[in-house]
Amino acid sequence: MPNILVVGSLNADLVVRTPRFPQPGETISGEDLQVIPGGKGANQAVATARHGTQVSMLGRVGNDHFGDFLLDNLKENNVDFQHVLRDPASTGTAIIIVDSNGQNSIVLSAGANGKVSSADVDSASFADHRLLLLQLEIPIPTVLSATQRAHAEGLLVILNPAPARQLPEEIISQIDYLIPNETELGLLTNMNVHDIPSAEQAAKSLMERGVKNVIVTLGSKGALIVTSTQVKHIETFKVDVVDTTAAGDAFIGGFAYKLLESANSLHSQGVLANAQEQAPILHNAVRYGCACGALATTKFGAQPSLPTKEEVENFMSLQGAA
Ligand code: ADP
Repeated sequence: MPNILVVGSLNADLVVRTPRFPQPGETISGEDLQVIPGGKGANQAVATARHGTQVSMLGRVGNDHFGDFLLDNLKENNVDFQHVLRDPASTGTAIIIVDSNGQNSIVLSAGANGKVSSADVDSASFADHRLLLLQLEIPIPTVLSATQRAHAEGLLVILNPAPARQLPEEIISQIDYLIPNETELGLLTNMNVHDIPSAEQAAKSLMERGVKNVIVTLGSKGALIVTSTQVKHIETFKVDVVDTTAAGDAFIGGFAYKLLESANSLHSQGVLANAQEQAPILHNAVRYGCACGALATTKFGAQPSLPTKEEVENFMSLQGAA
């Protein structure tokens, strides 16, 4: 059974719809408040677990009502949370105002996510896991500790560099699969990424800095695989888009699951021996990820739109792509 560890953020998303954004000092009426589980770490943990994979989450929530709510949600989604600690700080929250045009205005309060530490990483067991999945909503030194530990213990490391920011070389050089979107890739490399050739160029510059493989997600244009032996553009699936929230999280969850499942079927340690062996596996995992991302855009919201293995397999077979 593939086994994935996610070290990352958990947020309560507090969403209110309003006719328009308030001016400074103004009070306006909104619709009823919706409280939705979120945070890139938790979203990707749930996205992966929807494929039946064993997933553990390491992070922090507050000792408050939202903390209980987020742990209950992990439980309902079969994500192991024994490494999610309770912190004296408040649970991370995103206060989101959505206007009648569907535009967002967001205030993020990192809260307990900002307290996830290298000591937390040290106290967890990595031995039962084969793949580490990271994002950037927790402190960078913690991301570095987790990466180093995973490397030392032979886990594959996937980093989704979101929210977009620059990264120290010690992290960049230890990533097996870096999965940015075009904006994140542009920020990481200080390059103008606006199409497939510029994405390829930027991805190659990251490989010169030590990343082993880069998968650039390109929204409705699909994804670009850049490795030491191949550059390949994978088309996504045509769907009726309702809301693109969490397309990237769905892609990453599906990709991680499929990569590990395929690698495990070849080698008991889940490690790919060479580039020749890797190429078809990577192609399949990215294609599966695209199906997950495309399906996520057909439903509203983040976690409610993350597809299950069964939904993805049905969708792909209907599209003649299974
Ligand atoms: P993010 O949400 O991180 O910005 P993307 O927008 O690149 O990520 O979406 C991730 C993946 O989801 C894409 O690589 C693609 O496969 C799929 N996807 C996103 N938007 C669409 C769309 N409009 N139609 C079909 N697939 C999509």
